[in-house]
Amino acid sequence: MTTAVSPLVLAGAGHAHLVAMRQWIDRGYRAPEGAVLISPTPQAWYSGMMPGLIAGRFSEQQCAIELAPLCRACGLELIIGEVAQLDAHGQILTLTGGRTLGYEYLSLNLGSVPPQPRNPDYSVVMVPAKPFAPFANQWQSWRKRSGAMELAVVGGGPAAFELTLALHKSLPHARLSLICDKTLLEGLAPEAARRARNLLVHHAIELRENTRIERASGGWLMSESHRVQKASALVIATGAGAHAWQANSGLDCDDFGFIRINANLQSISHDRVLASGDCAALPDTPHSGVYAVRQGAILAENITALLAGQPLRDYQPQRRALVLMATADGGALMSYGRWAASGRLLGLWKDRLDLGFMRRHRME
Ligand SMILES: Cc1cc2nc3c(=O)[nH]c(=O)nc-3n(C[C@H](O)[C@H](O)[C@H](O)COP(=O)(O)OP(=O)(O)OC[C@H]3O[C@@H](n4cnc5c(N)ncnc54)[C@H](O)[C@@H]3O)c2cc1C
Repeated sequence: MTTAVSPLVLAGAGHAHLVAMRQWIDRGYRAPEGAVLISPTPQAWYSGMMPGLIAGRFSEQQCAIELAPLCRACGLELIIGEVAQLDAHGQILTLTGGRTLGYEYLSLNLGSVPPQPRNPDYSVVMVPAKPFAPFANQWQSWRKRSGAMELAVVGGGPAAFELTLALHKSLPHARLSLICDKTLLEGLAPEAARRARNLLVHHAIELRENTRIERASGGWLMSESHRVQKASALVIATGAGAHAWQANSGLDCDDFGFIRINANLQSISHDRVLASGDCAALPDTPHSGVYAVRQGAILAENITALLAGQPLRDYQPQRRALVLMATADGGALMSYGRWAASGRLLGLWKDRLDLGFMRRHRME
């Protein structure tokens, strides 16, 4: 069987590709005949609003962008599928199920998966915060449960904190705890971490800091050799981990499996491959949606320049980013450099930014 070769494959409908597609549409640019976008789902979920969905502040429809209209408007064919393997030397992608697709140029914006503790006896239900569709399904089934449950969230960053508050609000029958391997919100303003701890105390949510969960066994969460606590389920919000297949793709990857790119967002080993957002590794560029969005604007230009044989532009990461964490009550906690603040007005500001992003990237 011969493998079809596409002039341009966009793999993953992450923040950066959404921004790039929108820019192409604004400029009236149409992708070359045969160009495709590969996505496991017909919608792209917007992570910034997921805690709001769990807290009951948004509907699923408000948090997802339909991809078909976006693709149609910029001349991409939408393929529903998941990349399972990449042969960067042969320029061939293999999707789950075995379908293969060759490419002339490839742009990867596949996000990440949170690193997960081991669960050899499956005694604790482990639910990664990403991908969102299965996470949201699991959450719906917890909502329908009537009996008490012991639910823990593992991870100490903004997403883990937001999800903990949101789960607390939507699952009143759950006893909740948040477990971090360092201190809560490490790296953000110390005052933001102090306010976050106070909020957890206020809601009677147990916080365990400097506790690394390595595995589950017999219904217990285990740190190295000792039992930390019992849990029926564990939500995993441990930050960005690379998709396992990236390290075997032939692309130059860092020690954690993230694709190493240059300032043009090109793979440092394969210049026909671009990578952006969480799946890529670039100095001074944290894995966060804010940075992925900024890369999207450069990506839009660099993909078209690459196809036309023109010079590419550099992406310059911003020195610091604003972090706005939803507190499940319509408010938000802000950290910017050493500054922190919280309250209702910040929640309104966060909603405005999030809903504005959704409006801009929706075509229906
Ligand atoms: C609950 C939560 C809340 C967050 N809130 C914020 C926030 O408020 N601000 C912020 O800056 N960051 C936030 N983050 C982090 C943020 O989600 C990521 O940093 C950001 O999504 C990365 O964007 P991306 O462009 O790399 O890809 P993503 O937006 O993660 O998208 C990746 C896409 O690739 C697709 N995909 C995955 N695997 C494959 C595959 N094998 N083949 C094809 N497609 C694939 C996925 O379906 C997805 O559509 C949050 C994270 C979580 C978990």
